[in-house]
Amino acid sequence: MIQFFLLFTLLTTTIFASKVDRHRWENGESYLVFLEKNKLPTKALYYNLDKDDQRLTEEMRAGIHYQILRNKNGTIEQVLLPLNDELQIHIYKEKESYKFEPIPIIYTTKTEAFSAKIVSSPNYTIMKKTGSKKLAQIFTASFRNSLNFKNDIRKDDPLVMIFEQKYRLGEVFSMPKLKVAMIEMRHKKHYIYLNDDERYYDEKGHEVEGFLLARPVRGARISSYFSKRRYHPVLHKWKAHLGIDYAARRGTPIVAAGSGKIIYASRMGTYGNLVKIRHSDGYETRYAHMKSFRRGIRKGKYVKKGQVIGYVGTTGRSTGPHLHFELRKRGRAINPLRVVQVTTKKLKGKNYRAFVQLKKSYDKEIASHLTHNAEYKKQTKFQNICFLHRETKDAK
Ligand SMILES: [Zn+2]
Repeated sequence: MIQFFLLFTLLTTTIFASKVDRHRWENGESYLVFLEKNKLPTKALYYNLDKDDQRLTEEMRAGIHYQILRNKNGTIEQVLLPLNDELQIHIYKEKESYKFEPIPIIYTTKTEAFSAKIVSSPNYTIMKKTGSKKLAQIFTASFRNSLNFKNDIRKDDPLVMIFEQKYRLGEVFSMPKLKVAMIEMRHKKHYIYLNDDERYYDEKGHEVEGFLLARPVRGARISSYFSKRRYHPVLHKWKAHLGIDYAARRGTPIVAAGSGKIIYASRMGTYGNLVKIRHSDGYETRYAHMKSFRRGIRKGKYVKKGQVIGYVGTTGRSTGPHLHFELRKRGRAINPLRVVQVTTKKLKGKNYRAFVQLKKSYDKEIASHLTHNAEYKKQTKFQNICFLHRETKDAK
C-alpha cells in the first residue's frame, strides 16, 4: 500500500514539469521488447521479478492504451500498463532505479439502458442506436440459442437492454455487463436476466445454456476462483488468478470443456503440461499442470466436448495436484463461470422465489424504458486526457 500512496505523491510533485504520452500496444509487441525499446532495465523490471509477476507481463494485449510519464529531460518517471479492466502494471522510478508493482485500476460503474425499434436485424438496430459493437454482440449472443431472429422478427418490434458500464475518468472502458435484455417478436416478449448468482436465466427461471461444460474435471472441488485482481495478504501485493483451480487426485481424467481443435499440447513454463483448445467464436480453453496427456492428444487434433484429453497432475509451478483451467476470448482471460454453463438448470425453491422478485423489478424497469423510449447516451469521443493530465488541470 505504501507504493500506492507514493504514486499520488509522485503525481503531485512531478506533474508540472512532466509530460504524459498515451500509446497503443502494438500487435506482436512483447513486454521485453517494450522495455528495451524504452531503454528500461530488463533485469529489474523482468528477470528479477517473481514468476507470478513475470506471468502478468504476458497479459498485455494489442490495442490496449497505456501511458508513459516523462520528466522534462525525457526520462521515464512512470508507466501504467493496463492488464485487464481491474489490474495494471505500475513501473516507476525511485532514485536511480526502476520498480515494478501491479496495482488496481480505479473505476466507477453506472447502470444504463436504452430501448429501440427493429430496423432490420437486432445487430444492425443496436449498432445504429448506440454505435456500440459490443452491445450488439452481447445482445445477439444472449439469444443465439433460443431465438430465430431471421424468421420471426418484424420491423418495429421493440427491444430493451439494461446493462452496467464501467467508467474511468469519465471515459467508457471495458465490456458492458448485461443485466437484462428483452425483445418482443410476434407479440411475445423474450427475456434474459442476470441473476444474483451471476448467471443468466430466461423468464421461466431456466438457465441460459452455453456451449461449454461446467467442469473439465468431474466432481472436483473448486480450490481457487477466477479474479482479475486480488490482494495477497501475506505477500502484500496485487496479483491475478486468470483461471479456476479444480483440486482433484493425481490421475483424475480431464475432459475438453467444449469441442474444438487442439492448438497446443506440450510443456510450457509455469503451466507445466498444457493443452490449449481453440473453439468457435474466438474462444480458447487451457488446461495446465497435467500429469500427462491422453494418448493421441496432440496439436492439430480435433476433440469433442467431454472427451478425455489428459490427467490431473502437478507439473510446472504448482503446489499440489489440481487442474488450472482458463477460458480466453480473443486472447483475453475471462471468468469461465460467467460463460460456462451446465445443461439447462431450473431455479428451485428459495432461489426461484428470489429470482421472481428480481425479475419483477426488472420487468417494471423494462416497461418504463419502453414507454419512455429510453435513449442511449451517446459516448463522447476519446479526449486526450488521462488521470495524470486531469491532475494538472485541477492543480491550475
Ligand atoms: Zn490456477
